[in-house]
Amino acid sequence: MTLGRELIAAVGSEHAEELDAGMWRVAPGSTAEVAEVIRRAGEHRAAVHPVGSGGRPQRGAGDRARVYISTRRLDQVLQLDEMSLLVHAEAGLTGLELERILAPRNLSIGDYPPVVLTSSLGGLIAVRTPGKSSARHGFFEEAIVGVSAVLADGRTVHTRVAPRRATGPDLARALCGSEGTIGFITSAVLRIHPKPEARLLAAYLLPSVDTAVSAVLLSLREEAAPSGLRIYDAPEAAQHFEGLSLPAGHALLCAGTAGPTDLAACDRDLITSAVHAEGGKVADQWLAEMWWRRIHAGEPTPGPAPSLQVMATPAKLRGVYHAVVNDVRAKGGAARAHISRFDADGAVLFFTIEGADDLVASAEVAAAGAGGWLLGARATKLDAYLDALRAAIDPHRIMNPGTLA
Ligand SMILES: Cc1cc2nc3c(=O)[nH]c(=O)nc-3n(C[C@H](O)[C@H](O)[C@H](O)COP(=O)(O)OP(=O)(O)OC[C@H]3O[C@@H](n4cnc5c(N)ncnc54)[C@H](O)[C@@H]3O)c2cc1C
Repeated sequence: MTLGRELIAAVGSEHAEELDAGMWRVAPGSTAEVAEVIRRAGEHRAAVHPVGSGGRPQRGAGDRARVYISTRRLDQVLQLDEMSLLVHAEAGLTGLELERILAPRNLSIGDYPPVVLTSSLGGLIAVRTPGKSSARHGFFEEAIVGVSAVLADGRTVHTRVAPRRATGPDLARALCGSEGTIGFITSAVLRIHPKPEARLLAAYLLPSVDTAVSAVLLSLREEAAPSGLRIYDAPEAAQHFEGLSLPAGHALLCAGTAGPTDLAACDRDLITSAVHAEGGKVADQWLAEMWWRRIHAGEPTPGPAPSLQVMATPAKLRGVYHAVVNDVRAKGGAARAHISRFDADGAVLFFTIEGADDLVASAEVAAAGAGGWLLGARATKLDAYLDALRAAIDPHRIMNPGTLA
């Protein structure tokens, strides 16, 4: 049978579309159908590409047939355990869709950046990128209690070990960040949280970006667990708050805390005392409220999207900020930045660079030289182990070939 006929047999003609010669897009409606599609694609040595909420099929390269498998129809909550605070959800649900299902029950995935939650759960787990974390709940992958996935030969694996105190390696970790090369994630069991009783917001003015970073790091070291933090340098604050004029070189820090009222107040007080220790003071409340509305209520932020994102560990944040700003200035341009997505590993610096076209490339070199990690940068030291694992479970390299290569 041709590949096309096999795919139609697996998912039905209304869910299979030929995009180009030898290039198919299918939307299975169950794990069993995903397994069937992958098994049949494997028999044809066709490449298999999982597609979450973002990926768009590329034109096929070479003469290999390609099957793009969308998780669009895998959009159900399979089980909600309100006692254990666990949800078992299919991979095609986006974080925001899941949040909408949990909200009426007074439950939440947690305080992750809303833009991150526009991804499908499969994509969230399959791509490990900076920012999929929160100072309040930790890294998103820590919320993953188990994953179900289909391997290259069509076998289905469930990594959930209950209770988690059982011994042995946790195979879910191998699927986190595997970008569809190890298995097609069909569902996951996630730890969820009660909706916070209180949300407190505060804004602070600090004498410099360095002191603002120090205040944030000090409060995190003291185990404050804020739901959101953002530092703006003076030019970025002027852009984002319609002409707000900070004293030159100063920085604005906006902070949100959440949870039971006493804990939220305690976290806010830890941040306030760290700000005071760094020579800062409380600023106008409306700044914090506008910041939160823009992040969470979809109010547009003025100005273009950032031109450069760099992840840095706590110790390198200040160095990366100055390396980029100084590099751009030295070449006649202007750079402004905000720093957010703080967690135990550091934060992400979002730069907007204005001037000649080659300034961003030069700033990337400066950022990397100061120890920053550019968007999409990947540690490659363990690639030999990844290759061995892929060779063992996917000898014909059908799963997302070319990715993590
Ligand atoms: C290499 C890379 C680096 C990125 N870096 C960043 C970053 O630094 N910061 C940031 O905010 N965003 C980053 N992104 C954007 C990324 O798209 C999001 O992080 C998002 O989580 C992906 O979710 P999605 O639903 O849009 O998936 P898609 O964009 O559709 O897919 C993303 C990748 O995951 C695979 N995948 C999707 N669903 C599944 C599944 N169910 N099972 C197995 N594999 C699956 C896809 O094949 C693809 O390789 C990066 C993306 C990639 C591919």
